[in-house]
Amino acid sequence: MLQDKDRIFTNIYGLEDPFLVGAKKRGDWRGTNKILKKGREQIVEDIKNSGLRGRGGAGFSTGMKWSFMPKEVSDRPHYLVINADEGEPGTCKDREIIRHEPHKLIEGALLASFAIGAHTAYCYVRGEFFRETEALQKAVNEAYNASLIGENSCGSGYKFDFIIHKGAGAYICGEETALIESLEGKKGQPRLKPPFPANVGVFGCPTTVNNVESIAVTPEIMRRGPEWFASLGKPNNSGTKLFNISGHVNTPCTVEEEMGIPLKLLIEKHAGGVRGGWENLLAVIPGGASVPVLNKEQCETVTMDFDTLRDCRSGLGTAAVMVMDKTTDIVRAITRLSAFYKHESCGQCTPCREGTGWMWRMMERISEGKASIEEIDLLEEVTYQIEGHTICALGDAAAWPIQGLIRTFRPEIERRITQKKTNTDKAA
Ligand code: SF4
Repeated sequence: MLQDKDRIFTNIYGLEDPFLVGAKKRGDWRGTNKILKKGREQIVEDIKNSGLRGRGGAGFSTGMKWSFMPKEVSDRPHYLVINADEGEPGTCKDREIIRHEPHKLIEGALLASFAIGAHTAYCYVRGEFFRETEALQKAVNEAYNASLIGENSCGSGYKFDFIIHKGAGAYICGEETALIESLEGKKGQPRLKPPFPANVGVFGCPTTVNNVESIAVTPEIMRRGPEWFASLGKPNNSGTKLFNISGHVNTPCTVEEEMGIPLKLLIEKHAGGVRGGWENLLAVIPGGASVPVLNKEQCETVTMDFDTLRDCRSGLGTAAVMVMDKTTDIVRAITRLSAFYKHESCGQCTPCREGTGWMWRMMERISEGKASIEEIDLLEEVTYQIEGHTICALGDAAAWPIQGLIRTFRPEIERRITQKKTNTDKAA
């Protein structure tokens, strides 16, 4: 369990002043100039050694990602793009950083940009985050006025600009290349990779795209040292993490905890436990809508980190924990997610465009008990035809919840199909 002294986000609930005076009291912008003096390579090395893995869902090493950027800046400028599109259902961690700890993000953006040789960071904020954008803009203005960023950031002589760009609420723009397209003023559709953004990103220039939380934790890692961050959590899954706990719990919340905390402890300690008690638990989606669901038995022992959840054939994703008690119609719940992915598919590639609609229609039939037992296998096969056969991960994200449902709750699906058939026969 995380001790208060190791907490990075000390104003995540907005109980104190989120802006510059309050931020400085909490330690933000302390010694930033000294960190910059360490040099580009050392900052990348420190972030690598801290073990920080991307907090947007994929869990790729942040330091490693930075190291993919060209070592020398040519006539093509480098850019940092911060993904603040946060559209994953159940996920609401980045908005808390933006509205309550905006200076951590701006300071982190300066350090990350310096480390990758960028003089400009674009922060792509989800369109619906209106108040959050206001708060961030106010903090950016403060940082400019205090010369923390701008022509001579923190007195280092390094020029750095922070530009906020508002999205229009499309889920797919959370995919890094779709986000880049949207930032360029085009339709938000994912690009084929390669080339990867580190070679050809925004405006055709080398670009690193990082999640808000990944960027916001870097100043504290640099201040306290990579060893400190690496000592928290579990090997290969180090540090602290913001968890969102929602659904059928007594006190839904966002909380910073150590990576690798047991799921049961997380729910009981921070979210007041499952509504009606732990025995009333049916299932948990542990990492945002796109990861497979876990049943109660799995939830008893699973820990919240990338590797353990992957081994359980689920995922940490965005660490948005959605708790469902026994009143939940689990088939209906997953059907609702299928409708979401069908709606959000950008339509560029056939398996996703057609497949998400297919899966949703089959899920509708199954949830009403109108399908046949054989259709469960057919549906599962369709999910595997989509997974890994699309341009971006939305196809996988649409397939995984259904795969998880069939794997974990097949008897429930069969029960409702059989019951419907029995009722129909009786009526006839
Ligand atoms: Fe678009 Fe879906 Fe293909 Fe992604 S997988 S590019 S969302 S059609």
